[in-house]
Amino acid sequence: AEPLLRVNGLKKHYTAAGKTGFRRSTVKAVDGVSFDLREGETYGLVGESGCGKSTLGKTILRLTEPTEGEAFYRGVDLFKQSRRSLQAYRRELQMVFQDPFSSLNPRQIVGQALEEPLVIHGIGGPKERTARAMDILRTVGLQQDHYYRLPHELSGGQRQRIGLARALILNPRIVICDEPVSALDVIIQSQMINLMRRLQTELKLTYLFIAHDIAVVRHISDRIGIMYLGRLVEEAPTDELFANPRHPYTQVLLSAVPVPNPEAAKRQRIVLEGDLPSPLDPPSGCAFHTRCPYATDRCAREVPIHREVSSGHMAACHLV
Ligand code: SF4
Ligand code: MG
Repeated sequence: AEPLLRVNGLKKHYTAAGKTGFRRSTVKAVDGVSFDLREGETYGLVGESGCGKSTLGKTILRLTEPTEGEAFYRGVDLFKQSRRSLQAYRRELQMVFQDPFSSLNPRQIVGQALEEPLVIHGIGGPKERTARAMDILRTVGLQQDHYYRLPHELSGGQRQRIGLARALILNPRIVICDEPVSALDVIIQSQMINLMRRLQTELKLTYLFIAHDIAVVRHISDRIGIMYLGRLVEEAPTDELFANPRHPYTQVLLSAVPVPNPEAAKRQRIVLEGDLPSPLDPPSGCAFHTRCPYATDRCAREVPIHREVSSGHMAACHLV
């Protein structure tokens, strides 16, 4: 079947002042990413902060404009639409942010915040919008009196539910979740993940779930893509990725996940040398070569191509 969304060769480059302030250079935040979102699945997108995963999410929705590439949603390239015709599709693709209230008016009650997307898209009259807001509160497991609350009266978990409700009030088909549980403690995190899984089935949603912690996406993702410095370096069904990680960077990420299984516990913890290099001046060849324990001369010269390891499992490394 056709994927619900097909992203092809997506690049987001922008110019920034160089380190010294007077030399302008190109930041390759996203540098040629391709992947499919299949109807009803959750695709986990994982990478360190600064790898471009949030930018990727925002670019698909054109909250920031792409530099190059295509994003076919139900056969229509979102990047080729005028602002006006994009509106019709934007309802169906929504985003949930890590801190949904950071951009909201602290004096605006929850109800207004929930109805705002309906107002923007010209949906319903005041009465209908209020009824819909009350309804969506129940959908995300909150009581109706939350309608009259102010942001500061809510807990972190409640805020995140409101953020989700604001996205769901438009009846989207795809929800791009950017670190929706990263700021929450572990118990609230798993409640939120369970809620999202339940709503996925009930509302027939497709998720792109962005996170820096691979352990967080494990239980919600059907497939996982690993991103490093603007590129996708490995992609596989979740179980396959955990059982058979092929890219050295994925192996590093997995070695940090605590596992009760004694077989996996034998796996050595691999600690990375150094920080994520700046996308302002990314390393040549395989961008991971400055930190990779297996790097050879070839790695610094040649960008590794994506190779299929097994059906649906792809890795970009010269060793594969
Ligand atoms: Fe490491 Fe080379 Fe593979 Fe890159 S291509 S991950 S540097 S071995
Ligand atoms: Mg981010």
